[in-house]
Amino acid sequence: MKIHMQVGEPPMPEQPIRIQLSRTRGWRMPENTLKIDRSTRWGNHFHVIACEDGAFEVRCRLPDSDSAPKAAAGTLAAALGAAVGLYGAWLNSEWGIHTRRRAKDELRSKNLACWCRLCERHHAGRPFGEACAACQPCHADVLGRVANGLTCEPLAPARTA
Ligand SMILES: [Zn+2]
Ligand SMILES: [Zn+2]
Repeated sequence: MKIHMQVGEPPMPEQPIRIQLSRTRGWRMPENTLKIDRSTRWGNHFHVIACEDGAFEVRCRLPDSDSAPKAAAGTLAAALGAAVGLYGAWLNSEWGIHTRRRAKDELRSKNLACWCRLCERHHAGRPFGEACAACQPCHADVLGRVANGLTCEPLAPARTA
């Protein structure tokens, strides 16, 4: 059994980063990297759909979700951002609690790789603690922040009194 200490954990030797998967011949995932795209159990179930009128909207693939759009139709960039925002809201809600626990257990200190584009400056990878408006939004950022304790956690009720 793996036990994680809550307090006094030693700092991570190296900052884990988000990596962009590549189909370039000869490209290989760096060491200590886990693929979290939709072919895996970590994929984002909020996905972007191209509508016939040229707009984009977000739908949810969770089995208990209906097929109604989950974000207003808009540009591709807006829809991609909304899909990541919705994933973050889901992960940090009571419905995401198991995935959240599992992420802390299995993804901590690991690089996470997805197809979403990284900007030129971050083409080799971006630490999860670093925000960047030029990189395409990706649920890897959400997972990486949760896994590595870079998010705000609600206090237990007793401690807010
Ligand atoms: Zn960037
Ligand atoms: Zn992604």
